[in-house]
Amino acid sequence: MPTVTRQKAQSSAADSVPFTKDAKEQLRRAIKTVSEERLREIVTELASKEPIVEKELMKTLVVSGNKRKIGIGATDLLSRWETCANCAKEFDVGEERKGKECHYHSGNLEPDYNAFGDDDEDPNTEWYRKEYPENFNWSCCGEDGTTEGCVASTHEAGGMQKKRKL
Ligand SMILES: [Zn+2]
Ligand SMILES: [Zn+2]
Repeated sequence: MPTVTRQKAQSSAADSVPFTKDAKEQLRRAIKTVSEERLREIVTELASKEPIVEKELMKTLVVSGNKRKIGIGATDLLSRWETCANCAKEFDVGEERKGKECHYHSGNLEPDYNAFGDDDEDPNTEWYRKEYPENFNWSCCGEDGTTEGCVASTHEAGGMQKKRKL
C-alpha cells in the first residue's frame, strides 16, 4: 500500500488517491442520513450494474438454507438477515441456531389497573406499555413488562412481515 501522509492527502495529493479524506467522510455522513428507501434503490441499482457489488452483496445478504455453499443450482437460498418473529431482534440466518438464543413472552401484556389508579384514561395502549412497563403484567407468567421473556427458544424468521401487517 502506498503511504500517503496527511498533509499530502489534504493538499495536492488528490491525484494519487481517488478521493480526499474529507470527501470520504462526507460520503459516510450521506450514507448515514439518506432515507432507507433511497438507500435500497441505490443498492439494488448498484447490484444490477456492478458484478463485483452483486457478488459482495450475495456474500453478505444471502445464505444457503442447508449449509451448502452458494452456487449455481442451489435452490434453497435465503435472506441472511431476518427479524425474529418472537423477540423482534435481527439475527443471522446463516449461523447455527442455539437452543436458548431467543427470549420472549408467549402471552399478552395486560395492564394492572390497580397500579394505574382511578384515572379515566384507558392505559391499555402502546404508549402506556412503553412508558410504564412496570404497571403491566404478562398473561403467560405474571411477570411485569420490564422482565426478560419467560420462554427460551431459537430465533424464527418472519418478524418483519408480521410487523408490516400491523
Ligand atoms: Zn412470560
Ligand atoms: Zn428471537
